[in-house]
Amino acid sequence: MCRHGGNWSTRVIEPGLLGKVLWVLGIIAWYIIRYPFQRRAKRTKTVHRMRSGSEIIGLGSALLGLGILPGLYVATGFPEAAGHPARYWLVIPGGLVFAMGLATFRWSHKALGRNWSITLEIREKHRVVCSGPYRFVRHPMYLSFLLMGIGQAMLLPNWISGMAGVVGCAVLFFLRINKEERMMQDGFGPEYAQYMKRTKRIIPFIY
Ligand code: SAH
Repeated sequence: MCRHGGNWSTRVIEPGLLGKVLWVLGIIAWYIIRYPFQRRAKRTKTVHRMRSGSEIIGLGSALLGLGILPGLYVATGFPEAAGHPARYWLVIPGGLVFAMGLATFRWSHKALGRNWSITLEIREKHRVVCSGPYRFVRHPMYLSFLLMGIGQAMLLPNWISGMAGVVGCAVLFFLRINKEERMMQDGFGPEYAQYMKRTKRIIPFIY
């Protein structure tokens, strides 16, 4: 009789490794989506820029939580003491949540077009975008970070590195949101005020 090598768990990718592979693929996709917008942003003139200490802390927290800490975990397993068992029932939906985050990320970039920037800026010929995902919420890109953060927590079985994404994007969101909305109101007056009346921040009908 011919026996196929190994039992079920050795033939199928185990959940810990599957989560890491999906996270790495997600980060590569994230970079591929962002790259053309980053290049174009360099060529688009800025007429008003808000650079402050809290912007650096916010962006640094997001980078640490969604990039550096999980990357370190995937590469080395650090911090081992915070590890917990990996489970398929978390990893598989985690991959789907991360993919939803990526789709929202791409959709927001496409809708924002030349108005996109990594920090708070008003560009030359800037206009208020209220199409695509901006029909439903004012900050779909921050919603996409939150979805990726939740996906990451489900993909990586580590209390610190897994959860760091949600914490990092919450820090960015709460440090930035009032300033961003004030900047848009100062720049666009009633147009943005009207838009604010029609939409919620990140969760349609709720918040
Ligand atoms: N907060 C938005 C956009 C993040 S990118 C989101 O989460 O989807 C940050 C830049 O987007 C800021 O510099 C701001 O000028 C610009 N911005 C934010 N909302 C906008 C809108 N509705 N229309 C045009 N530009 C917008």
